Amino acid sequence: MKRVVLLGSTGSIGQSTLKVVEDLPDRLRLVGLAAGGGNVDEFARQINTCKPSAACVFKSDKLSELRSKVNGATRLSSGPEGLIELATMPEADVVLIAIVGTAGLRPALAAIEAGKDIAVASKEILVMAGEAVTTAAKRKGVRILPVDSEHNAIWQCLDGKPNHEVRNLWLTASGGPFRKTPKADFDKITLADALKHPTWNMGGKITIDSATMMNKGLEMIEARWLFDIEMNRVQVVIHPQSIIHSLVEFVDGSLLAQLCEPNMRLPIQFALTYPDRVANTLPEADFNRMASLQFEMPDHDRFPALRLARESGERGGTTPAVFNAANEIAVERFVKGEIRFPQIWETVGRVLSAHKTIEHAPLDTIIAADQWAREEAAK
Ligand code: MG
Repeated sequence: MKRVVLLGSTGSIGQSTLKVVEDLPDRLRLVGLAAGGGNVDEFARQINTCKPSAACVFKSDKLSELRSKVNGATRLSSGPEGLIELATMPEADVVLIAIVGTAGLRPALAAIEAGKDIAVASKEILVMAGEAVTTAAKRKGVRILPVDSEHNAIWQCLDGKPNHEVRNLWLTASGGPFRKTPKADFDKITLADALKHPTWNMGGKITIDSATMMNKGLEMIEARWLFDIEMNRVQVVIHPQSIIHSLVEFVDGSLLAQLCEPNMRLPIQFALTYPDRVANTLPEADFNRMASLQFEMPDHDRFPALRLARESGERGGTTPAVFNAANEIAVERFVKGEIRFPQIWETVGRVLSAHKTIEHAPLDTIIAADQWAREEAAK
């Protein structure tokens, strides 16, 4: 039995995690739940169903409303301190972090310091603080378990093989809704267009990031840290069907891929039951639906996000945090209809050019760089 703390339970990954736990009651138990507070009714329903020993609502002003809707003995808390308390719960074996944005960073480090394995769904953790997080995990002897479908796939394909046997890691990308859109039409792209993802049903921010391919850029940096590999061995290939979740190309020319229908329950389950493979209620393989698997190389002229990500990852230090923060601000502006679609990467590019990288930065320096990038992007 693995005892799981889930940070970010009402989001898309959180809800899939609850299904995984429900599917494997002899294997997994939720001992802690945290949510932002945007959907108190749903969070209260989850607490009343799973009966964790502790739960935390990030927005402190939602605590009394939550208290009035929760019955049972769950200990309730709020705010960043509440998150840290959950992340370090003595009875937890693994902490799954699926909080959107930077709020998951300190709980991730706290969980590692408390000797917990962390399952990472929030990209910001490794993008912003990959060096600090992986160094701390090594020192404490805990695992960083990738939940993101691409990294989970690479992890399954690598199966413990050493880095010198790897030629390239290949992240697959659906290409998003504008894979075939001519560059000349990019200025006319609306929010509604950008929210139409061809294969995955995810949150709003990540769907926009998929449309710009910033999401794949963030994943390149994430892969660099998760698998301790140089940026120039992290590649991207477009695969519109999202059946192959990623591949490893070994030095002998062999390519290993991981395939399954796009459903986040599988990577979440693999991370939580690792090293075991466990039978579940997911649908069996349907080769009729996999009849055509296509590939194409990304068009860097129409999608400069990948180049910006590679540059950021190569510069290292505070730069990936700046890349991430500038993108967040630009996406917010695009969502509000204040900037055009190409201005998302134009903004990120400008902020990156203005940034002076600080190498081997401690967490406070990274957070300061993140803050600087937000102000710079807003200008
Ligand atoms: Mg992904």
